[in-house]
Amino acid sequence: MNYYSLTKKSPSVNFKEATILGLAPDKGLYFPEQIPMIDAELLANIENCSNEEIAFRVIRPYVGNTIPENILYDIVRETVNFPIPLIPVTGSISSLELFHGPTLAFKDIGARFMSRCLGQFVHQQTKKITVLVATSGDTGGAVANGFYNVDGVDVVILYPSGKVSSVQEKQLTTLGKNIHALEIEGSFDDCQLLVKKAFADKELNRQLFLTSANSINVARWLPQQFYYFFAYKLWKKKEQPPVICVPSGNFGNICAGILAHISGLPVQHFIAACNANDTVPRYLQNKNFEPHSAIATLSNAMDVADPSNFVRILELFQHQFGEMTKKLSSCSISDTETVATIKEVYEKEGYLLDPHGAIAYLALQRYIKEHPGTRGIFLETAHPVKFPDAIVQATGKQVPIPESLTPLLLMEKKSTRLPVSYDDFIQFLLSKN
Ligand SMILES: *Cc1c(COP(=O)(O)O)cnc(C)c1O
Repeated sequence: MNYYSLTKKSPSVNFKEATILGLAPDKGLYFPEQIPMIDAELLANIENCSNEEIAFRVIRPYVGNTIPENILYDIVRETVNFPIPLIPVTGSISSLELFHGPTLAFKDIGARFMSRCLGQFVHQQTKKITVLVATSGDTGGAVANGFYNVDGVDVVILYPSGKVSSVQEKQLTTLGKNIHALEIEGSFDDCQLLVKKAFADKELNRQLFLTSANSINVARWLPQQFYYFFAYKLWKKKEQPPVICVPSGNFGNICAGILAHISGLPVQHFIAACNANDTVPRYLQNKNFEPHSAIATLSNAMDVADPSNFVRILELFQHQFGEMTKKLSSCSISDTETVATIKEVYEKEGYLLDPHGAIAYLALQRYIKEHPGTRGIFLETAHPVKFPDAIVQATGKQVPIPESLTPLLLMEKKSTRLPVSYDDFIQFLLSKN
């Protein structure tokens, strides 16, 4: 399988090159040259297949011969080795819980897969790879955990001092070894600007092999298809496929779901649930793609004004606006509605949502009201304990800390504190080895 750049000004590459590069040299996102169809036999027998077998059969054509099959199977097995249950919340709404991985967020799946692939490829490379990530919370933890102890890869994570929750900070700063946490005395945007500047710095890139681990990387995007298939395996009424609602920020997650559907997975309809950052809901209404600046919300992992993966969704629908709006709708949910939804679902159904899942729950509930008789699944992308302020605001109660977190919370934070200074940042990068 080869991948072309959506900007169409760089040559096509294989999976290995696309993973190492992240973005194409022309700054376009990579996209597969063909979309492989899923075996009808796999879908018919899906209830008898293990998750690792499903995942392996989904990803194999995308990886091609860049990783030997036995190694790819091990990578996939390690990627999905935690529970991903489908929990009924009401008669018509179920929650696909994607937060049972090591950092309690769905990004674990993409990060675990990508880190292991990069770990394979780095052996064939002469230089060590340095992965740079700026994080507002969730991405950094999943990337740190995924890359921990991967030989030949150093990870440098920049996070805004005082602006990530305490669980998130511990997840970023306690690993050590090849994971370096930089606590930047500024905002998330400052962190992002430092990283962007480093990628554009020709002299620095002569000295270090830099790459990014954000959701535009094909090795993070493609494995996100896995759990759409797992959800279908657990879906009882196969004759009536589910409506699937995805809390969306950069649109990588929902884009993977649509890819799975185009490959043959039965899905009745997709809903992209957004917070106040409503570029896509407005676009689907009036065909004008006009990003405003990003707005800070309670569901901060979705505070994205210009979703990078949306160009991939346009490509999946071959730029046919009418085809796209038949299959995909989108809406924007406010912070007030988010808090009210967490409170209502907790009190009525005894189910505790996190702010991202709450947005998806409410969007799905509205869709079902307008389409009586439909049933659906929303993706619960993070554990509520990662967003304690919103939960206390909604329920008046603290979230009980899951036992699996106790050891983490006892560990000592190790980070390097830096002002917003490009020179200090570069100095750190060059001296860390
Ligand atoms: C990253 C993230 C999202 C948004 O996913 P995208 O693929 O960027 O659309 C939603 N929820 C949580 C908890 C996240 O961390």
